[in-house]
Amino acid sequence: MMYIKMTSLRRNKKIIIIVFSHVSASGKFVISVPLGYVMNIARDLLCIAKGEVLEDSWSKLIYSVDASHYEIEPAAVVCPADEYDVQRICEYSTCHNIPVTARGAGTGLLGQSLSNGVILDFSKHMDNIVEIDNDYVTVQPGIVKGLLDKELKKKNKFLPPDPASSNYCTLGGMIADNSSGIHSLGYGSTISFLQEIKVVYADGKLGFASAAKYDDRMKKLGELLALHIREIRNRYPSVTKNSCGYRLDAVIDDKFNPQKVFAASEGTLGVITAAKLHILDIPAYRCLMVLGFEDLLSAVSVVPEILKFSPVALEMLDHTIVRSNNDKASGAGCLLFIEFAGNGSSKKVEESMMACKLLLADRCSVIEYASDEQSIIKMWMARKSALNSIMKLTVGSRKPIGLIEDTVVPPYCLVDHAANLLETYHENKLDYVIYGHVGDGNMHTRPLIDTASTKEVELMRNIANKVFAHVIKRGGTITGEHGDGLARTRYIEMVYGKSITSLFSIVKKLFDPSFTMNPCKKVPCNDLSME
Ligand SMILES: Cc1cc2nc3c(=O)[nH]c(=O)nc-3n(C[C@H](O)[C@H](O)[C@H](O)COP(=O)(O)OP(=O)(O)OC[C@H]3O[C@@H](n4cnc5c(N)ncnc54)[C@H](O)[C@@H]3O)c2cc1C
Repeated sequence: MMYIKMTSLRRNKKIIIIVFSHVSASGKFVISVPLGYVMNIARDLLCIAKGEVLEDSWSKLIYSVDASHYEIEPAAVVCPADEYDVQRICEYSTCHNIPVTARGAGTGLLGQSLSNGVILDFSKHMDNIVEIDNDYVTVQPGIVKGLLDKELKKKNKFLPPDPASSNYCTLGGMIADNSSGIHSLGYGSTISFLQEIKVVYADGKLGFASAAKYDDRMKKLGELLALHIREIRNRYPSVTKNSCGYRLDAVIDDKFNPQKVFAASEGTLGVITAAKLHILDIPAYRCLMVLGFEDLLSAVSVVPEILKFSPVALEMLDHTIVRSNNDKASGAGCLLFIEFAGNGSSKKVEESMMACKLLLADRCSVIEYASDEQSIIKMWMARKSALNSIMKLTVGSRKPIGLIEDTVVPPYCLVDHAANLLETYHENKLDYVIYGHVGDGNMHTRPLIDTASTKEVELMRNIANKVFAHVIKRGGTITGEHGDGLARTRYIEMVYGKSITSLFSIVKKLFDPSFTMNPCKKVPCNDLSME
């Protein structure tokens, strides 16, 4: 058991609270911050919200966890009926200095949707598709990506970001984490598709943003960023995927795109109540090839060569997952999945694939190949179930811990990055898994750590520091898609330096002066050392 002293400003009175932190029997980092000690939050919410208010211990237990290694009990959970509910709850929470944390499916991997305040669950009532047009879709935040995919497919359309969690995760969560997936190489992450957004701010006021039309707070954001354009252009990592900090670079990219400040913001600036996203036609032709390599280094060494053929997906599974997952490939040390797609002619798509295969012929073996929809879906299943397979390696409190998780480097630095990871794991005698979106230079990795051992947890933090420093030195980022959350907010300054990190605090203050919007994520909170 560990005690953390936390100070809280409640109605202008400074109160000292003792926070209890320990590792549970299941190996979760449990943080208990009693908030309901001065008031009955749930009783108040029952009076102001039309949607359900949950405060029974079973519900609180369910919402105290996500897909991370943290556990924090909320004061209450509300399933808002509509935008007006969200406004009233935010207004109430700001007035009483209570954190508000939006939640979709709770599949975030770094503790993003956990807090000791009020949880807003959008998956129950605010989960509609509002409109599907020729090149855009408008949705409420709680819609599950897989359900949206089905509706879009009926119109021969798709929204390319495709997290492996698509059957559960929501659009609100995907925007807030800037999620991507296996096809981000060809099409981009969620941020690339976000056209318009509607939000509720901490004070309950409505906000809106698109390149064409935005509210006063967004206007102030534009004025603020105009003073820092050169610094933003110089300090952001030069990689194709990034969910670290606030994506101010995307806000001031070719034109002012204020809606993009909410992508990767983890619900810390406002609560999303609707979003309009660009959609594409499903490509007419696709083909997928799986290649087997001797080991990880020989597989990642060919990535820059494969990229010259412009695949839409280029993914990797290392030996630990290959062996547990795929009988056909059990002899291979490492697999690469390469997909080509296009609308012009099937011949052109096939030609790219064949040329790529020919180039690599003497360095790998062809494990599988398909150009029909059903076989392609089946082959991708092995890759998509990677994280679930990895979680099966858990034995008691010894588990694959997601802290290093999803670093990105420019693809030509992949060999150097992979060699550094392998050396670090071997030096420290740690078992590990490595897989991911190598086409974007985005590798997922988890060491197996005994979370009950303070020594091993400390070792994991030291390793993360070392790996992050290595990646940043090569122009990379600590997270390509999974975000910062509770686990990695403390590392954001390593990526951007003091000046941009201070700018993040100013942006946070502009949108959320009361610091009640999902605190302790993106901008560290000195009050509560949750990380
Ligand atoms: C097995 C597994 C596989 C995964 N694979 C991938 C993958 O391939 N690619 C990838 O990118 N990620 C992946 N993830 C991570 C995760 O699924 C994504 O980040 C997902 O988009 C989160 O969606 P969610 O609905 O679960 O959001 P939650 O976890 O509920 O919330 C995530 C964040 O979004 C915020 N949020 C939710 N709704 C709103 C709203 N209305 N307004 C403001 N903020 C909001 C929350 O406050 C929180 O900060 C995977 C996770 C798992 C468990």
